[in-house]
Amino acid sequence: MDIETKIVHGGQHPDKMTGAVAPPIYQTSTFAFRDADHGARVFSGEEEGYIYTRLGNPTIDLLASKIALLESTEAGMIFSSGLSAIFNVVATTAKTGEHIVSDNTIYGGTFALFKNVLPRFGIETTFIDAANLDELSSAIRENTRLIFIETPANPTLKIIDIARCAEIARAKNIPLCVDNTFATPYLQRPIEHGADIALHSLTKYFGGHGDIIGGAVAGKKEFIKELWEIGKEIGGSNSPFNAWLVLRGLKTLAVRMEKHCDNAMEIAEYLSKHNKVEKVYYPGLPTHSGHDLAKKQMSKFGGMIGFDVKGGKEAGKIVMNSVKLCIIAVSLGDVDTLIEHPASMTHSTYSDEELRGCGINPGYVRISVGLESSKDLIADLEQALSKI
Ligand SMILES: *Cc1c(COP(=O)(O)O)cnc(C)c1O
Repeated sequence: MDIETKIVHGGQHPDKMTGAVAPPIYQTSTFAFRDADHGARVFSGEEEGYIYTRLGNPTIDLLASKIALLESTEAGMIFSSGLSAIFNVVATTAKTGEHIVSDNTIYGGTFALFKNVLPRFGIETTFIDAANLDELSSAIRENTRLIFIETPANPTLKIIDIARCAEIARAKNIPLCVDNTFATPYLQRPIEHGADIALHSLTKYFGGHGDIIGGAVAGKKEFIKELWEIGKEIGGSNSPFNAWLVLRGLKTLAVRMEKHCDNAMEIAEYLSKHNKVEKVYYPGLPTHSGHDLAKKQMSKFGGMIGFDVKGGKEAGKIVMNSVKLCIIAVSLGDVDTLIEHPASMTHSTYSDEELRGCGINPGYVRISVGLESSKDLIADLEQALSKI
């Protein structure tokens, strides 16, 4: 089946008892046992069954298996947020005295988790530029337990070669985790390129409507079993209703992504010709350093773009304060177009030096291109740029 068909039908069928086409929301904390012995058998794993929603729930499990299917792998697990998913992957792969390697251009919350929180558990992170494969190889140590990348990376849209990173990781027997939030499996499936784990903030394109927070991890059954053993004790489970909203949003992922990509391409082209714009960052532009690689590992270039305005931070601020249709807000992947300033918002966890180190300029503006008419969005940006 093609990915569009899997997005609509994969893992789902009308309810056997009632014929309901939409899946039921099992909004319950706990599940009754037939008798004491049945409860004991389910707890010991001798018999399959639901116990308690933190440990498993049919609505949440449906979403997990659907995401695994879309990511071309065996199993998945859902979390309360993307960051919870990331913490749980680290907690499953590394422990005190061990080490992880991460690309330096990642979501600001992930950066803060690795830089500030993991050391409290005795886990050290080396940040490198994974677009430079030699840097990646030489950062790996005896005690490295995980390699973590995002591609396209938040917020600069840097593209990293998943297949080459996977070769390096496999040679050292270290799992490679790819945060696939920006691309979604509609545009890119990291596991098909050799990654071991695909990870998502469901808050973004998967949910798609800006109304939930959630995270997901997909990978081999064996790994997801380990992740579950650890994750059920950490307790970052999500709600059945949120899982249902993601299942609902997911149905239109293919058409939404097509429109996000087309709108972003038009806006990127418009901005790249604008005399008040210094530089546009969009992997779909042939001038982008990762364009050829993006063409190889993605089917289209996504809905996220960034740009530096001539005049730096002050000029960028004028643009953000002048837009009328675009909304000044963090998050991304919504139907609404969202505009933000990474240095003071999503990536304020980076020091000035760290921002410079990964090429986030002081005036860099990021846009999550929504599903409005590209003509109206361009008109909005045009009037905002004219205020500089
Ligand atoms: C938003 C985001 C996260 C964190 O997800 P939450 O759901 O906000 O916890 C992680 N990675 C990327 C790329 C993101 O954009």
